[in-house]
This record gives sequence, structure tokens and C-alpha cells, in this order.
Amino acid sequence: MKRLTAALMAALLLTLTACAQQTPCSATIFAMDTVMELSVYGDRELIDEATELIIKLEDRLSVTDETSEISRLNRDGKAELSPDTAELLASALEICDMTEGALDLSVYPAVRAWGFTTGVYRVPDEPELAKLRELVDYSAVRMAGLEANLPSGMMVDLGSVAKGYTGGRVIELMRELGATSALVNLGGNVHALGSKPDGSDWRVGIRDPEGESYLGILSVHDAAVVTSGGYERYFEKDGETYWHIIDPATCRPARSGLLSVTVTGPDGTLCDGLSTALFVMGLERSASLWRSLSGFDAVFVTEAGEVYITEGIEDSFTLSGDYENREIQVIRRAAD
Ligand code: AMP
Ligand code: MG
Repeated sequence: MKRLTAALMAALLLTLTACAQQTPCSATIFAMDTVMELSVYGDRELIDEATELIIKLEDRLSVTDETSEISRLNRDGKAELSPDTAELLASALEICDMTEGALDLSVYPAVRAWGFTTGVYRVPDEPELAKLRELVDYSAVRMAGLEANLPSGMMVDLGSVAKGYTGGRVIELMRELGATSALVNLGGNVHALGSKPDGSDWRVGIRDPEGESYLGILSVHDAAVVTSGGYERYFEKDGETYWHIIDPATCRPARSGLLSVTVTGPDGTLCDGLSTALFVMGLERSASLWRSLSGFDAVFVTEAGEVYITEGIEDSFTLSGDYENREIQVIRRAAD
């Protein structure tokens, strides 16, 4: 019943444009709490199949839907997962390791305590935060094949990686169905299949975290472009701004000196997990992590309005008109 309702809702919200050789087949759907735009050069079936896949993954991964696999795991402390959920949980735990816990799926009780899951915002006091910190430790999540186990009191949330994973799966599906050119935007989480039909790169706008306009443009093909920013979900209280990205070490909104981090690379899950983690880690720690790993590049915007990029995207990132007077600082593998 639930699945049917979700599928019907998505279908109702679906706006389709005609599919022709030179115009993409496009649709706007609402899923995973966000507006998604799918655009693919090919026939209508690609959009239908992609929509079905998104709804299926949402049903499994949502932390707020009481019937999802993740909710079952959180409620019972153990669950037999579908291969999709198990695959994502395992990949996400690897990113938690890679970022030394800056990404920590078990930070969920803190995300809840601040009200970010319901919109009923509050500022927990220090004793409550201390208690919440005791529940945070992704390394205690156990997986054996499709079975996952959590210690008592722990709850996990795949919100930091679910859209990146889903975008990657949608692109993979479109490729399998024969498409060679598509762009899907899952609420600012952008995934490109191939290039535009004329062979040029897709141009993805990167938002100014302090305004509505695009700070810059990243030109990509066959890549994800994922941004995490405090501006995406926040509230203000007594002159302070509190956002939804939580530092697992303090269980408070992460204040690392960054306002947004965009990560680009071929792996959607990795880009999504890292965008959240690098936001927590701040510029210096992120730069050392980038130097020690391959497979991604990043754009950082600091609280002072500075723009830093890693050297792999030096030729593909440009500032847009209003921002051309800002200097781009390039982070290099080896010191100059
Ligand atoms: P994103 O928009 O991809 O940066 O993900 C942010 C979402 O991930 C939040 O809304 C929380 O549900 C969750 N989250 C917040 N902080 C963390 C963290 N440090 N590690 C893992 N998940 C987090
Ligand atoms: Mg993320």
C-alpha cells in the first residue's frame, strides 16, 4: 500500500517533456524529501525505470519512514537487509573509516535531538550532549553478509550518502538501458552520464552559500557533483545559526570555518559521504585527506568567502560573472 501511494504520488508530480533526438526527456519528481530533476537523451522508459528505482531505494533507506529497513534496524538493533541497503551501509562505513569518524552514521540521535528530522528545532544542553556522545561510534556497527547489528541505544542514518548512492544507481541503470547522455539532479546532488550529445561537458552550477546565485561552474562528464552546506537546513536561535551537519566529536553543528564543500568524482556515494565529512573536517584536514587519496576533487568556500579548489579541477572550475573578482586558491598535491 505504502509503495503504491509513493509511486502514485511520484507519478502525479511527474512533469514530462517530449522525448526527441535533440531534446532530452525530462521529469521533475519529489522523493527523499527533495525535488529531483531527471533529464536523459533517450526514450520515456528511462524516466519511468529511474523513478521506480528512486522510490524503491527511498522505501528502503529512509530513516523517517517507520517501515524502512533502516528504521527496522534502528528499532530492533538488528535487521536482515536487502542487498542495496547492505551495499550502501558497507560503503558508508568505509567512508566513516577513511575520514576517521568525521562521517559517522551513528550521529543520528544527535541529529534528532537538535530537531533536524522533524523541523521542531531546539538546542540540547551540555549534559544531554554528553549523553548523546556516548551513543556515537560507527565502529560498533556490525555487518555479516546482509545482516546488520547495532549495540543497544545506537541508531544509524544514511542521509549523508543516500542521494549520492541513488544518483549513482540511476546513472548506472540508464547506462544499462542504453543511454549515453543524461543529467540527474537530486536536490543539488548532481550526476552526469557521459557528456552532452554535442560532446561538450555538462556545466554544473555551484551555489554561493551566502546567497541564491551561482558562485561558479564546474564542467564535468561521467561524474557526480555533490555539495554539503550549512545553508541547506538550519535554524537560528538567540543570534546563533545551527545547521544540520553535526560534528560527531561534539554532537553540535560542525563549525570548521567552511560554509560549503562540493565534491566531484566518478563515485556518487563517495562524493556524498565526503562532502559531509569534509565540511566537518575543515580546510586543512580535508586538504591532507585529499592528498592521501585519489578519486575526487573538491571546492571549498570558507566563512571568510574564500574559494579553494583542488588542482584536479583547475581547468574545469570557473567563477561566475558576479564573483569573478574573487581569487581561487588551488590546493596542490605537492607543495609549490
Ligand atoms: P549531506 O546533506 O549529504 O551533507 O548530509 C547531511 C545529513 O546527514 C544530515 O541531515 C544528517 O541526517 C546526517 N549527518 C549530519 N552530520 C553527519 C555526520 N557527521 N556523519 C554522518 N551523517 C551526518
Ligand atoms: Mg553527503
